[in-house]
Amino acid sequence: MKQKILPSTRAFVLARDSYQCQAPRLDPDAGPCRDAFGSVTAGARFWRDPGPMYLQMSHTKPRGELSMGMKTSPTPAHLITLCPGHHTGTEAGSNWEAVHREVIRDHLASLTMLGTSEE
Ligand SMILES: [Zn+2]
Repeated sequence: MKQKILPSTRAFVLARDSYQCQAPRLDPDAGPCRDAFGSVTAGARFWRDPGPMYLQMSHTKPRGELSMGMKTSPTPAHLITLCPGHHTGTEAGSNWEAVHREVIRDHLASLTMLGTSEE
């Protein structure tokens, strides 16, 4: 099930995450970031949205939230910026996003502890 992310939501999340893949920030062993072509983008700094070939939105549901009949567009509280390599790529047979869902969740929870009233 693919949920549509509004352009304004993407813009907000990218700015919040400083236009950087958050994997190396959350995991010292995350390895190099890669673009959608598989090229390493280590050290690349973006100052605006470079497009989905370079930075993508990873959607993570809050702990315990069931995906029943929710038709709402993902909000920034559920989204984090990842490069294509860490989002969908595999390194040594494992996908960073899939392995680190709990890390991402905790990070998003700490970001959104103030100012949200979803619970
Ligand atoms: Zn990355």
